[in-house]
Amino acid sequence: MSTQGKIIIFTAPSGSGKTTLAKYALSIFPELSFSVSATTRNPRPTEVDGKDYYFVSHQQFQSLIEDHKLFEYQEVYSNQYYGTLHSELQRIWSENKVALFDIDVKGAYKIEQSKPKNVLTIFIKTSSLDVLHKRLVERASDSEESIEKRIKRASNELEYLKYFDYVITNDRLDLAKNMVKLLIEDFLKLP
Ligand code: 5GP
Repeated sequence: MSTQGKIIIFTAPSGSGKTTLAKYALSIFPELSFSVSATTRNPRPTEVDGKDYYFVSHQQFQSLIEDHKLFEYQEVYSNQYYGTLHSELQRIWSENKVALFDIDVKGAYKIEQSKPKNVLTIFIKTSSLDVLHKRLVERASDSEESIEKRIKRASNELEYLKYFDYVITNDRLDLAKNMVKLLIEDFLKLP
């Protein structure tokens, strides 16, 4: 098995279950290590700086951009920036592990377009926008207005699914987990 220089990217419209599946992958494959992104958004109550994200000011984020410290970055929401740090990749690879990214669709698309070697991209979706809507309502962490925004955005993000290596329809979590397991097992075996 080779881990050298490898990256696995989970991407999806919000509410598709991407983070659940990324956490599942991390829990069953000790070869994987989560790449902690930098963000300008405020921490949520349960989040830990340096574990969930590196929480930085807008000024600090700007310096990261200017100093070329970011592998990729996006303004995911209005005035909220998120970016993958080169230093995370170096840390992970120096531990002989595979980097796992949980990033938005545009950021993942940009990486995919640069046709990198050793990158596995997995796009997670629900079978329909209705299912996604229901899930966002059940998650109860967004207002109706924010849910409408996310649905609109999701329908745009779905246009990009053809660019990724694999698409998993996550209506049944147990099946989606099995698919994640198979894809990663196979990817880890590649030289
Ligand atoms: P949240 O604020 O809910 O943690 O994340 C919002 C969105 O930003 C999610 O889709 C998440 O995957 C994405 N995201 C997190 N870190 C990065 C990053 O480093 N780069 C990009 N492009 N998106 C990110």
